[in-house]
Amino acid sequence: MKAQPTASHYINGRYVDDDQGAALPVIYPATGETIARLHAATTNVIELAVEAARAAQPAWAQMKPAERGRVLRRAADLLRARNAELARLETLDTGKAIQETLVADPASAADALEFFGGAVATFNGDYVDLGGSFAYTRREALGVCVGIGAWNYPIQGAAWKSAPALAMGNAMVFKPSENTPLSALALAEIYTEAGLPDGLFNVVQGYGDVGAALASHPLVAKVSLTGSVPTGKKVLALAGSHMKHATMELGGKSPLIIFDDADIENAVGGAMMGNFYSTGQVCSNGTRVFVQNGIYERFLDRLTARTKAIRIGDPLDPETQMGPLINKAQQEKVTGYIEIGKQEGATLHCGGGIPSLQGFENGFFIEPTIFTGVTDTMRIAREEIFGPVMSVLTFSEEDEVIARANNSEFGLSAGVFSRDLPRAHRVAGELQAGSCWINNYNLTPVEIPFGGVKQSGIGRENSLAALHHYSQLKTVYVETGDVASPY
Ligand code: NAD
Repeated sequence: MKAQPTASHYINGRYVDDDQGAALPVIYPATGETIARLHAATTNVIELAVEAARAAQPAWAQMKPAERGRVLRRAADLLRARNAELARLETLDTGKAIQETLVADPASAADALEFFGGAVATFNGDYVDLGGSFAYTRREALGVCVGIGAWNYPIQGAAWKSAPALAMGNAMVFKPSENTPLSALALAEIYTEAGLPDGLFNVVQGYGDVGAALASHPLVAKVSLTGSVPTGKKVLALAGSHMKHATMELGGKSPLIIFDDADIENAVGGAMMGNFYSTGQVCSNGTRVFVQNGIYERFLDRLTARTKAIRIGDPLDPETQMGPLINKAQQEKVTGYIEIGKQEGATLHCGGGIPSLQGFENGFFIEPTIFTGVTDTMRIAREEIFGPVMSVLTFSEEDEVIARANNSEFGLSAGVFSRDLPRAHRVAGELQAGSCWINNYNLTPVEIPFGGVKQSGIGRENSLAALHHYSQLKTVYVETGDVASPY
């Protein structure tokens, strides 16, 4: 299996390589085989990319927003036309089941390009009536923006950052995760083919040091990171020390609350999607599943039966529902947490092992895992595991569960399953989270804002909120009378 791109980086509308950079092998997580060999960006490559972006941005910002939008919408059409090949590339890069990447990855990237390509023409400043004189505000581009991606949704992440940035007239230098460098290059090719002028979307590969060099570059106006909380703190500090704009999409340990009156199959389906999709490598996962006592036995029965039926294996087989984790280190981290859960006294209810799969012995697989008897203070209930490990906790009262759900340093997402809609809205109002789902979980259509509170982040992606975060306000005061000068 090979997925070697033309070169490691994409700068100023073409592929660029510099083999002086650190080796960056791309591993297919299902087999452990190396499918491509890339190099991290050297200082020279970083400078080339930032300079290309700086040079291209002013003319792009001068274009009519609708014209910029047209380029993005053409790129959206190309993404959709190539969905199958891009989904396969994403599966090779991430190990996620093709059944998921066919519907969730290039498709959501296309949604973002289409949405921001259309929305930007309606995104204007305000007119302020001052009684004769007046003022207006302009929404102006920031300049060169840096995007730094995580490995769970590579092409989606690249599009969620670049689409609003480009729509608003910015240029972007994007650094994918070192684990998943391939699909951002494919997106760059598509942008060029759609007519995006050279230099506006550049991809440079690398590890954390390349991200840090970009986040502190003097010509960069904004940094948008998707990653873990510790990385977010470092990148936000770098951005702050250079007075740059910043959006931080970070980790979570989100609560999913299931009341006695919930529809049981929907609640089980929501809990499974919120723990097992993408092999559990989703930042907004509802990994603390609080189940009210009256429904607990029935919920657990159905959850167990449906979890045991999950088909795990070859990610390229359309029947497979769960692929491997991203790499060996992540597999070790997740199995380490499963050991911690057992030592802490939680009950390993199902899963917890490494499945034996013929032909995939060197892959980074793990069984979907459910712990019961989990208490709030256990590490498996407090720390982000980023794997298919669900903690089931029980509760009796609404006030109690809200307090326990909010007792976390994170605040990315939350969910409530109940047929009592006044209660569902009341609870959603009380939960400390950037996104709350009622009677579903983990849906992130581009039309609605996405982001976290508390340690889970700053700023929002998607929706018109993202256009705010990729622009700055200029106020223009217009005098229609004489200057009332005391001098
Ligand atoms: P990570 O923090 O290890 O890396 C994220 C990115 O930051 C990578 O591209 C990495 O190279 C880069 N990086 C690392 N150190 C850096 C530094 N000092 N300066 C600049 N860049 C640096 O995260 P990951 O393991 O790739 O992804 C998993 C994490 O991302 C989880 O915590 C998950 O919850 C979070 N995540 C959040 C969202 C969201 O939207 N909130 C979405 C997906 C993943």
